[in-house]
Amino acid sequence: MQIRRNILLNPGPSTTTDTVKMAQVVPDICPREKEFAGLMKQMREDLVKIVHGPLDLYTAVLFCGSGTINMDVCLNSLLDKDKKALIINNGAYSQRAVEICTYYGLPHINLEFPVDDLPDLEIVEKTLCDNPDVGLVYITHNETGTGILNPIRIIGEMAHRHNAVFVTDTTSTYAMIPIDVVRDNIDFCMASAQKGIMGMTGLSYVIGRKDIIEKSKEFPKRSYYCNLYMQYDFFERTGEMHFTPPVQTIYAARQALDEYFAEGEQAKWARHTRVMNAIHKGLGMLGFREVIRREIQSGLVASVKYPDDCNWDFNKVHDYCYERGYTIYPGKITGADTFRLCALGAIDEDDITAFFEVLKEALAACDITVPVKYND
Ligand SMILES: *Cc1c(COP(=O)(O)O)cnc(C)c1O
Repeated sequence: MQIRRNILLNPGPSTTTDTVKMAQVVPDICPREKEFAGLMKQMREDLVKIVHGPLDLYTAVLFCGSGTINMDVCLNSLLDKDKKALIINNGAYSQRAVEICTYYGLPHINLEFPVDDLPDLEIVEKTLCDNPDVGLVYITHNETGTGILNPIRIIGEMAHRHNAVFVTDTTSTYAMIPIDVVRDNIDFCMASAQKGIMGMTGLSYVIGRKDIIEKSKEFPKRSYYCNLYMQYDFFERTGEMHFTPPVQTIYAARQALDEYFAEGEQAKWARHTRVMNAIHKGLGMLGFREVIRREIQSGLVASVKYPDDCNWDFNKVHDYCYERGYTIYPGKITGADTFRLCALGAIDEDDITAFFEVLKEALAACDITVPVKYND
C-alpha cells in the first residue's frame, strides 16, 4: 500500500512512519483475550521506562481518549477532600486545567503569569506558604501554545516540601525531551500516543506513583469513566482496561514503542533538536520573528509573529502548504497573532528544508514581501 507522506508541523497528531500506520491492520480480536492483556501489560511497563520510573514505585494507567482525558483524570482523582489544587498558569494548556477544576467545582488557585514568560518562583513559593491546604500542584511542562518550557524539577521540589502531590502535563515533551520522574520530582505525568511516541490518536496514559494512586482510593470520587484509581485497580486485577480499549490504536502504539526504543532517547531528542534548529534557520532566512525568547523555549515549538504585510493571510499560506503536503498551525496566544511550527513526529532536517522551499513559494504566490516586514 502506498500512503502519501504528509509533514505535520502542527502540535500533534504527528507524522508517523508507515510501519506504525500499518500496525493497525490486524486480525479482529476481542480485547478481553489474554493475548491482548499481555500486550497492554508490557506497554504499561514500557511507558514507565520511557521516563525512567522504577517499576516498583511507578505505574502507567491507560485511557481511551485524547490527551485532555489525562488532565481531567489527574485533577478529578488526586485531590483529597478539604484540599486545594494550585494551577500554575502561564498558557492555554494550564488554562484548560483551570477550566477542568471549574467544571468539577474543585477548590483551586489559578496562579496566573504572563503567557510569554516563566512563572515567578518566589510567588509560587509564597502561595504555597500562604495556603497550607494545597494538596496538588499542577504545571504544564512545555506550554504547547507558546513553546515555553517550565521548570518542573524546581516546582516539583517545592510541591513536595509543602506536602503536595506534583502533577505535570508532559503531553508535548514525553518521549521527546528526556524526562526522569525521580530526578524531576514528578509524582504524575502524562502523554498521548499521537505525540511523543509517534503513534495514533485515541490512547492516552498517566504515569505516576502507585502509593499515591492507592491512597486516592479514599479521595472523593468525581467521575465514573475518568477515575484514576478505578482504572488502575481494574488493570491490576484483570490486566484489562475497564471499558473497551482503542484496539487498533494500541497495536500501532506497540509498534511505535518498538521504534522509540530502537531509535533511542538521546538520538531521538537530537533529531527533534536538529529539526527545530532547521526551523529557526528557515524562519530567520525569511525574516520571521518569534514571540518567545530562545532561552526559555522547549525546542519543540516555534511561535511566529504574523508579519505586518497587508497581503499576509495565514489561511492562504496554510492552504498553499497543505496542498503540497505540509501542515502549519495557528498560534494559541490571546492578544497576539501567531502561527506555530512544531518539531515532533517522524520527520528530519531535510523535511524542514523542503518545507521552507514551499513556504517561500507560498509567500511569493500571495505577494508577501521577503524578508517579511514588521512595523516596529
Ligand atoms: C496536545 C496536548 C494536550 C492534549 O490535547 P488533546 O487535544 O486532548 O489531545 C494536553 N496538554 C498539552 C500540553 C498538549 O500539548
